[in-house]
Amino acid sequence: MNNVYLDNNATTQVAPEVLEAMMPFFTDWWGNPSSMHVFGGQVRKHVDQARQKVAALIGADPSEIIFTSCGTESDNMATRGAVDAAGERVNIITTRVEHLAVLEPCRMLKERGYRVMELDVDGGGNLNLDVLRQALSLGQAVVSIMWANNETGVIFPIPKIAETVKAAGGVMHTDAVQAVGKLAIDVCRMPVDMLALSGHKLHAPKGVGALYIRKGTRVRSLMLGGHQESGRRGGTENVPYIVGLGRACELAARNMHDEMTRVAALRDRLQQGILATCPDVRINGDPANRLPNTLNISFLYIEGESILYHLSDCGIAASSGSACTSGSLEPSHVIRAMGVPFMAAHGSIRFSLSRYNTEADIDYVLARIPEIIRKLRAISPFAPV
Ligand code: PLP
Repeated sequence: MNNVYLDNNATTQVAPEVLEAMMPFFTDWWGNPSSMHVFGGQVRKHVDQARQKVAALIGADPSEIIFTSCGTESDNMATRGAVDAAGERVNIITTRVEHLAVLEPCRMLKERGYRVMELDVDGGGNLNLDVLRQALSLGQAVVSIMWANNETGVIFPIPKIAETVKAAGGVMHTDAVQAVGKLAIDVCRMPVDMLALSGHKLHAPKGVGALYIRKGTRVRSLMLGGHQESGRRGGTENVPYIVGLGRACELAARNMHDEMTRVAALRDRLQQGILATCPDVRINGDPANRLPNTLNISFLYIEGESILYHLSDCGIAASSGSACTSGSLEPSHVIRAMGVPFMAAHGSIRFSLSRYNTEADIDYVLARIPEIIRKLRAISPFAPV
């Protein structure tokens, strides 16, 4: 049986080049980068180089990069840290389709009395900028809007959104965890104040991330207890992982354009193959405005989870947005926010590719899917006879 991994928006395989770069920091160079002696100095130099590589991938200055433990921490630091620094009267604006790493801190702030606005998206997952302008007119705001959606791949027009936010005097954070390494990003060309990224989405290990904070942006630290990261994030640096993140960003900067062109062609081949062989399917998320690696597709009349089990039996890894709530499978908040009809919402599957996928992978999946769908529909009480 083949093994085909198409769940790269959940996590990616660590690149061999990344692992190779990390290894000496477990064995030979284990000093604390804050130490003044030679053991510390050697290591500090590599942390600084990693910072330069992360900064280069997104067009930032190295002094604007803070290393964190993950995308979730970066999003928490940006939202809670900016709101804390702004004071009690600030509003918070986000969207209904954000990752929980943004939604939950915002909801916690709501419980503390802040006005939090979660903006709607349309059926394609796109945002109406007039709705954003209206929300901004209600007062000073910290805004957190994702660059690309993890479930559908839909891309928000962040340069335009950031201009709108800054014109209204707001603070602009973007969760770019799914965008970095897949899309060209240059923070010099747009007025975003903060941007979150995560190592394990771009072939570095789990447990390391970064937050870009533009010079002059006021953000209160979440992690107190150390002077690391220029006093903005306490905690001894996770040196091997930081070095790995730097190497992953370097590889992305070098190869992203070619790799993502190839990945987009594979994704399109998968999509066309499914559309040609399976009736009653629906693409979720604006197909003209998606990450190159993501396909979110609904198979009507059947549960996404059942499809996943059958795919898994064939060695194929994908994911569904459903979550088991009180014993029943509920479509994800993203699919619900887009108003995907009931029958389609329950049968949604996300395929997400990476540089390591091949044509043979896609052909293998296309050879298995029609039979799985046919079998499941044959026993579905909802499928038309
Ligand atoms: N934001 C988005 C859009 C994500 O997709 C994820 C992870 O899936 C996160 C934030 C959280 O990142 P991490 O897993 O590094 O905490």
